[in-house]
Amino acid sequence: GDFPIETDTLVVGAGPGGYVAAIRAAQLGQKVTIVEKGNLGGVCLNVGCIPSKALIAAGHRYETAKHSDSIGITAENVKVDFTKVQEWKAGVVKKLTGGVEGLLKGNKIDIVRGEAYFVDNTTVRVMDENSAQTYKFKNAIIATGSRPIELPTFKYTKRVLDSTGALALQEIPNHIVVIGGGYIGTELGGAYANFGTKVTILEGADEILNGFEKQMSSIVARNLKKKGAEIITKALAKGVEEREDGVTIKYEVKGEEKTVDADYVFVMVGRRPNTDELGLEQAGVELGERGIIKIDKQCRTNVSNIFAIGDVVEGPPLAHKASYEGKIAAEVIGGHNAEIDYLGIPAVVFSDPELASVGYTEKQAKDEGIDIVAAKFPFAANGRALALDNADGFLKLVTRKEDGLVIGAQIAGPSASDMIAELGLAIEAGMTAEDLAMTIHAHPTLGEITMEAAEVALGNPIHVV
Ligand code: FAD
Repeated sequence: GDFPIETDTLVVGAGPGGYVAAIRAAQLGQKVTIVEKGNLGGVCLNVGCIPSKALIAAGHRYETAKHSDSIGITAENVKVDFTKVQEWKAGVVKKLTGGVEGLLKGNKIDIVRGEAYFVDNTTVRVMDENSAQTYKFKNAIIATGSRPIELPTFKYTKRVLDSTGALALQEIPNHIVVIGGGYIGTELGGAYANFGTKVTILEGADEILNGFEKQMSSIVARNLKKKGAEIITKALAKGVEEREDGVTIKYEVKGEEKTVDADYVFVMVGRRPNTDELGLEQAGVELGERGIIKIDKQCRTNVSNIFAIGDVVEGPPLAHKASYEGKIAAEVIGGHNAEIDYLGIPAVVFSDPELASVGYTEKQAKDEGIDIVAAKFPFAANGRALALDNADGFLKLVTRKEDGLVIGAQIAGPSASDMIAELGLAIEAGMTAEDLAMTIHAHPTLGEITMEAAEVALGNPIHVV
């Protein structure tokens, strides 16, 4: 065999979990090796968060250019060069993945290209096309992420696409069918709807985005319908027939079998953890349900020197959760007494309008028997929202009745994704409604909505009665 290379901390996977963990471990004085078989930045930077947000932004530009007559702007001849949209999107991704490489190198982290396979609990072998190298580690962090689930009745082809294929289309389709109205299906369906594609969403539950409150998801559904999208709920997708120039999707709704023709079908029904080809059994790492790696509050697996973070562990498969866990794992390895606490974790959908939630919802709080005040403030009562011609939505603040402690918030509206940060901070810092109400917010800004909702919670709002 080869001569093993020794390292302190070996990170497998360079997504938002792995690369952040590697940097923090290096900052804490560890000799760090990171192994990546694909592209630095993982799913998030290459085929997830970032390219999807770029496509959504481009779709918005096009849509607003075409539909601003109500504020006196009429544009003629608005055209999309979709090849150029794709090139721009690729450029954004390249800038960021190049940035990750620079950060890893700047922190003196050894970047190894290839596929890692555990041999035992202190050894991995890394293979690429023509070589193999053994690494001995003191601690390892598994951050291998997840991949789209493939339905047996919808094998991926050039017209049956997962999210990666959906992001890489080289033309604007006339008609797409999206199976799964979760956040990825809604975001990508919405992006193409803005480009003028006819979108049909097939959702098994009785509403899209069913992890969010109905008051929120119904605004998104209404907007999608305004753009010509069709949302078919309680629908069971049964199969697909593919032709040279399109697909026919069979589905069942209320016991009735139906079909719909489209150019492409996007299958967005969830993701599964990449834990099946890692040699975890040789390292003694135990898996839970659906191939999820079980960890404790310090991100430690059942093997004391092997940690796991991100999409391979329990919890919402989100980039910021992966990064957060990455910092915790690195700090624990570095001898700190860090622990995960998910209360302040935001969930965001980049739909139209954006949805965001952090901490408790009204219902969750009530289910746990917490006595709460839920205070709502509409975007329509905010000057900035009106001046942006974007005043659809509301912010709901959930506070504990006895002392006004902020325990949750939900936002449906423009910039909800950014606004939720203030509420996350309020929860993390243990602030009360009064703290938010007495914080001076610049005028006119969407941030004032947060202040005003806090005033509603206190019973003395200025701009609603
Ligand atoms: P990943 O990003 O999946 O990275 C894992 C890495 O490990 C990969 O690069 C892989 O090549 C590598 N790897 C796997 N096995 C091995 C091996 N054996 N050896 C070496 N390397 C290996 N999240 C958000 O928070 N916000 C969003 O807006 C958002 N949008 C999304 C949009 C889409 C279309 C998709 C698909 C996902 C989106 N997500 C979003 C989810 C987000 O991308 C993931 O939660 C996040 O990437 C998980 O990070 P991770 O580090 O756990 O794994």
